[in-house]
Amino acid sequence: MAAKLTATLAVLVATTANLVAAQKYPFMPTEWPSQDQNQFITGRLLEAPLILDGMKKVQAAVPENILALPVAEFHNYSNTTYPGCTPSELPAGMTVNLNSTQAQAACWWPSNNCIRTTATSYYQPDIVRCKGQNVWGLTYDDGPTVATADNVATRNITDILGRLGAKATFFVAGSAVSNAPGELRRAFSEGHEIAVHTWTHHPLTTLTNAQIVAEILYTEAKIYSILGVVPRFFRPPYGDVDDRVRGIISALGYLNVIWTTEPLNNLYRDTRDAEHVSSAADMASVVTEVEKWFVEQPGFISLEHDINPNTSTIAINLLSRIESMGPAFPLKLKPIGECYNIAPYMNVQPGQALPPLPEYRANPTDVASGALGTGVGVAVWRRVTVAVVAGLVAVMALV
Ligand SMILES: [Zn+2]
Repeated sequence: MAAKLTATLAVLVATTANLVAAQKYPFMPTEWPSQDQNQFITGRLLEAPLILDGMKKVQAAVPENILALPVAEFHNYSNTTYPGCTPSELPAGMTVNLNSTQAQAACWWPSNNCIRTTATSYYQPDIVRCKGQNVWGLTYDDGPTVATADNVATRNITDILGRLGAKATFFVAGSAVSNAPGELRRAFSEGHEIAVHTWTHHPLTTLTNAQIVAEILYTEAKIYSILGVVPRFFRPPYGDVDDRVRGIISALGYLNVIWTTEPLNNLYRDTRDAEHVSSAADMASVVTEVEKWFVEQPGFISLEHDINPNTSTIAINLLSRIESMGPAFPLKLKPIGECYNIAPYMNVQPGQALPPLPEYRANPTDVASGALGTGVGVAVWRRVTVAVVAGLVAVMALV
């Protein structure tokens, strides 16, 4: 009897430990950055255990001189002044010095589309093209967004992708995820890859090391609280990375994904769907330009957005053209993990099934829910409680 009891208790303890280990996200935040993307992440949000732990990983992995690379000056949107140039040297209205030697030394992407192609001790190569012939790495940034009666959004893009039998990678912003958790869950459940694109969408070279860590980890934690996975892929807003940012991305386990841009080969795979596009004619002209890509060619990665009804309309119109071409469409649409043969989530091994979705207070209108941040904790403890009660019942049956 005692042996049986001990064995039952051992199983109970192991089951409980497994349940906790399987779902626990260390240092889940109790407070989140603002949904207002104009706000920088500052103050006590940078002192949260999640961020302090992230900084420890960064400091252990990235050389001090790289972490000490100077921070760029932020103006607005993607406009920055990268260290090594003075604004007075620049033409009126231009804030980026394309020829800054410091920018080139640190391989600042916006300067000359500089990419790193080989790994070092502190960063992995940038991912900029899908492997293979005719492979189109399909990516949508800045969402998820909520569809309304009048406006298309993320789910309208995934609906047509579903009809095409195609998957994409969605680089989501933490602030947008907070606002549309149900949309994130929908895209993920349909088999699309979810990846990190910062919380506030500020250019990262303008942020301190701790702020960059916070941009990534708050978004990661929010995604985990909703989906139970930790993404592997990261895209910097505006492609704004230098070696300091690459080091931080890499130390946190991420791979840096930029869209294909090769000026020397006159190869640009930014659809420019978000630039000065406001009328139906603008949208149609973007579609006409991108249709020129519908030919056999080496693999590439495109940039599109599901950030607003205009960009989502462009995405849908492009996919509709592809749908109407049927088998005559010469390219294969793939998400990044698939075209690189890399598992898209850090906590899911290749070939392993995705974990069950954490408990989630479904809200059909997708209004942000303050309870989501603790959803995982609730799910874990409910399962642990079930396991403990089941164990006690077993024990009582024995005695
Ligand atoms: Zn973006």
